[in-house]
Order: sequence, then C-alpha cells, then structure tokens
Amino acid sequence: LTQPAIYKRVLLKLSGEALMGRREFGLDTDTVQAIAHDIKAVVAMGVEVCVVIGGGNIFRGVSGASAGMDRAQADYMGMLATVMNALAMQSALEKQEVATRVQSAIPMASVCEPYIRRRAERHMEKGRVVIFAAGTGNPFFTTDTAAALRAAEMKCDALLKGTQVDGVYSADPRKVVNPTRYDQLTYLDVLANDLAVMDAAAISLARENHLPIVVFNIHAPGAFAQVMRGEGAFTRII
Ligand code: UDP
Repeated sequence: LTQPAIYKRVLLKLSGEALMGRREFGLDTDTVQAIAHDIKAVVAMGVEVCVVIGGGNIFRGVSGASAGMDRAQADYMGMLATVMNALAMQSALEKQEVATRVQSAIPMASVCEPYIRRRAERHMEKGRVVIFAAGTGNPFFTTDTAAALRAAEMKCDALLKGTQVDGVYSADPRKVVNPTRYDQLTYLDVLANDLAVMDAAAISLARENHLPIVVFNIHAPGAFAQVMRGEGAFTRII
C-alpha cells in the first residue's frame, strides 16, 4: 500500500542549473520533461504544487556585475532569465496535460500573469501548478529568497529544494569521499556552519515562518513523490 502525501501544499525550488542536464548552458528538453513528469506524479497524489525556478543556467547578476555591469541592471537580466525557464517548464507540464500558470513578479502582460497572491492561491486550490517567475522582482535578491517568500505567502507546508544530491552533507559528496548526510538539521545549524543549502536570507525567512525546508535529489526519478510520502533520502531543516 502506498503512503498518502504528508504535505498538502508545497513549493518546489529548482536552480536554473537543474534544467541544464549535461549541457554547459541553457535548457535540456529531456531534463525539463523528466522534472515535469515528477511534478505531475506529485500533483496526481492530490498535493498542491507551486514552483520557483532560478536563472543561473542563463544569467546571474553577480557574473554580469563582475564583468563590469551595474549590479541592479544585471540582476534584472537574471530575473528575465528565470522567466524563460518558467515558460519552458510550463510548456513541459502542459505537454503532460498538467494545468499550469506562470505568474511573474515583473508584470509582462502578453507573456504570463502578473503575480497576484490571492489569484495564485485560487489556481492552486483548483489543482493548477503555479510557477512563480522573476524571483522577488527586486535586484540584490536570489530565487532562493523568492522561494521562501512565496512559500510563506502561499502558506505552504514545506519548501522542497531540489538539488543535484540527495540532501545536505558535511562536505560536497561529489568532491569528498564518504561525507556524512544529515537527516535533520536546524535552521541555526545551517546558518552557523554556513552550509551551502540556500542563502542566509532564505533560511532566515523560512525560520521566522516555521517553514520546513526539505532538500532532495531532483534528478532521481520519482524522488519528489517519494519525499512527499516521507520516504527515500532527504534532509529536513526545521
Ligand atoms: N534575481 C534577482 N532578484 C530575485 C531573484 C533573482 O535579482 O529576487 C536575479 C539575480 O541576478 C540572480 C538571477 O536572477 O543571479 C538568477 O537567479 P538565481 O541566481 O537565484 O538562480 P539559481 O542559482 O537558482 O539558478
């Protein structure tokens, strides 16, 4: 017998890099489809899902700034990059017949809906996946912070951070042999030890709002659904 979902409403945060597959840059269609497939499985469990996707696979504000651009200007480019990723994910989800809406923090009337909190909630109640694009709409922020912010606004039961590895480790498991994987950490553990989970602003916002963060491997097929049943490998931050 399969376990029911332990969460009713969640926000999934993906970095732009999660959509790259084995490419060096941009989007890999098969990878986007695979993630859309896993999102569909969670929606089918009756969970309300919203999504925040980063833009690092296309453009990052800090890179633009280090190349001599004005930081705020570069950050707006980064936010536009997240809109491209959101549209790609919407296409992939719609191809799998999952009703999806994109809402952008920077209004773009002919491309997607503007961010309207109550409208987003309504979409989710109707079983639609809502993808929040353009981060927080402000430069000097990240999409991690946007994820914590939207998850709090949507009253999500958890913020799911889909990464390249199956949780938070004492050291990078792709570089160090046999590091420890933590099953559970506190927000303060993450902040005090500067663990590379999400930036400090995002962790603080989650902490203030008692929003659990669950870190898991987005590239393990079916892992998202497993984590929603409380099974498989993940790290919970509470
Ligand atoms: N960004 C921003 N404000 C936000 C969210 C994002 O200015 O609220 C910009 C910032 O330049 C950032 C880029 O968008 O570098 C892409 O987002 P992020 O780096 O968080 O993407 P990820 O690392 O998750 O792919």
